[in-house]
Amino acid sequence: MPVNLSTSLTEIKGIGPGFLMKFKRLGILTVKNLLWHFPSRYEDWSEVANIEELIAGDSKTIHGIVQSIEVKRLWQRKMVIVEALIADDSGSIKAVWFNQPYIKNILKEGVAASFAGKVSERKRELYLSNPTYELINKNFEGGTHTGRLVPIYPETRGLTSKGIRMMTQKVLDSLDKVPEFMPESILIKNELPEINQALWEMHFPDTRESAERAGDRFAFEELFLLQLNNLYQKIALAKEKAPVVESETKEIETILKSLPFRLTPSQEKSILEILGDIKRPRPMNRLLQGDVGSGKTIVAGIAAIVTAKKNHQVAIMAPTEILARQHYKTLTKFFNDFRGGIGLLLSKESRIFYGDELETETKKNNFIKRVADGKIKIVIGTHALIQKNVNFKNLALVIVDEQHRFGVKQRAALMLNGETVPHFLSMSATPIPRTIMMTMFGDLDLSIISELPKGRKEIVTKVVDRINRDKAYAFIRGQVRRGRQVFVICPRIEPEENELVTWATLQTLQIKSVKEEYEKLKKKVFPDLKVAMLHGKMKSQEKEKTMSDFSRGEIDILVSTSVVEVGVDVPNATIMMIEGSERFGLAQLYQFRGRVGRGEHQSFCFLFTESEGRAVQERLKTLVNAKNGFELAEKDLRLRGPGEFLGNEQTGMPDIAMRALKDPDLIKTTREEAQDTIRQDPNLKNSPNLKARFKEFQREVHLE
Ligand code: ADP
Ligand code: MG
Repeated sequence: MPVNLSTSLTEIKGIGPGFLMKFKRLGILTVKNLLWHFPSRYEDWSEVANIEELIAGDSKTIHGIVQSIEVKRLWQRKMVIVEALIADDSGSIKAVWFNQPYIKNILKEGVAASFAGKVSERKRELYLSNPTYELINKNFEGGTHTGRLVPIYPETRGLTSKGIRMMTQKVLDSLDKVPEFMPESILIKNELPEINQALWEMHFPDTRESAERAGDRFAFEELFLLQLNNLYQKIALAKEKAPVVESETKEIETILKSLPFRLTPSQEKSILEILGDIKRPRPMNRLLQGDVGSGKTIVAGIAAIVTAKKNHQVAIMAPTEILARQHYKTLTKFFNDFRGGIGLLLSKESRIFYGDELETETKKNNFIKRVADGKIKIVIGTHALIQKNVNFKNLALVIVDEQHRFGVKQRAALMLNGETVPHFLSMSATPIPRTIMMTMFGDLDLSIISELPKGRKEIVTKVVDRINRDKAYAFIRGQVRRGRQVFVICPRIEPEENELVTWATLQTLQIKSVKEEYEKLKKKVFPDLKVAMLHGKMKSQEKEKTMSDFSRGEIDILVSTSVVEVGVDVPNATIMMIEGSERFGLAQLYQFRGRVGRGEHQSFCFLFTESEGRAVQERLKTLVNAKNGFELAEKDLRLRGPGEFLGNEQTGMPDIAMRALKDPDLIKTTREEAQDTIRQDPNLKNSPNLKARFKEFQREVHLE
């Protein structure tokens, strides 16, 4: 039966439901899913030898006839061994498998088979140890698992590469010709193989080079589609109407003069970029990127106040209530003569500020009504709260803190009567490498704050050896005595019970957990100080309370997981101590460090590690010397891959494309090809296959 990419695996003959279930576990339901489950590597069994030629240490394939086979039990070790004698014209060799008694039912005496494996030696006798085998006709033609470069796939319990390989081969054999969707000219220009050929060579390559070329093609097509998506999104947004928010140079100068500090050059540049965008009748879609403490809030605040003064409304959304409150404080402090209404909406509290310290607490209903009537110009709250509860009269600008992307759906939810779309500004302290920016976030315009305000003291950063731990504790005590506060970050929440100990997990067992560390610090090390704990499994109200206690100085030492990463400003906190620091990415460590050094006092960052390996030490040293986050982000991308920046959320992109995010040339090329394609044929009329594939891609990839 011929199959095509959309054929469900259930329709393929001769496959049991148990086998199918296992594929399902890998997310493989269709032929397309299966064929796009790419090998992670290849095992080279391509060298075929006569048995006589084999020497210990070889990794080769032999063709032979099974002379005898028997199952032996080693009672004392509860182990089963299958031993076979294989012969070809040149000689014979033993093959041995451990704990796979069923092999005796497959490799019966007299059958012809291929065997690929490592040649070992025991008591001066050569044998094949756990070889891969497959039955084959007497001419020994056409191996799937032996005698070639053999694909090794990401596996799941009960489903080995051999199983996946069998299925893939079966499907490829009966696959209808897959229509090529990439424009031929692009394939030729970039020397990429055609899709049917690429599929074969990805799974059953003749040479490593052809496998690589096939891999290049699939990475290319994925990035190309992504770039098309970015461009179309930009085009679609440019067609939408947005409110025009005028601003005059004079007015901006007045605002800048009223601030207690001078803005840095890149803060000023960012403001001009934003105000320039919102003057236009099409929606802004901009990301404001800047290190922790670089002063993003005031930049956004100026954009908000300019907009509000023109009688438009602004929504400012923060990921947590503490941050929302912080933004409210900042805005009412810097713009205390603004009378249009700055509102703070929290789950249990709502208040409005009408200038000159005139602040009223109000009922939520009243607050929401006032927003609907346009009587609160700037509304500050959490993402969830504003999206769910609030309707605006004339929303012109949405500012989102610490969230990179604001999806089309979220945007639509805030659209007023469907006529205009608000301008959108997001802020983030995560430095995203350029290549990722150009692909995953290619639909956003970018403003970067590249320097910290003058007068910030450099944070003293040290990698602390195990033996100096007590010294570090003594230092912390001294700082707390002077009134300072301390963050302690741990890589995980609690030690896992009944964790199966193996050599591989032994290391993770030693990783500090928040709970253990909290107990230890509270009871043994600092019994006289106020120690508290913060982690992701706590209720959000508990978390908020702990954080606000910490902000108010009621807690000396806060032991936390990475939840503290997101932008809280506690100028009095001067020590950032990171346990198991080797477990974090450089960009992440950089973010942690940015939590201190925000006030007048000298701040410190201590990196603790249980690992004395040179690589770890070197990596941590990079942080000690780092001057900016982008540099580290690029390093992280090389060392740890793009997961660090894109989070664990499913991007829907195959690994092969994710890995390609490291390659600036490929990204540039795919972007240019996408631009050319759209320029020549804006609606893809002449490329129906590409159009169809692109539609599918938009469904597959969740970039929301
Ligand atoms: P982030 O970019 O991490 O959000 P914030 O906006 O919270 O940083 O700014 C950190 C601190 O720096 C705030 O207290 C803010 O008032 C202050 N700040 C911002 N810009 C300047 C500047 N140009 N000069 C001095 N201090 C500034
Ligand atoms: Mg911030």
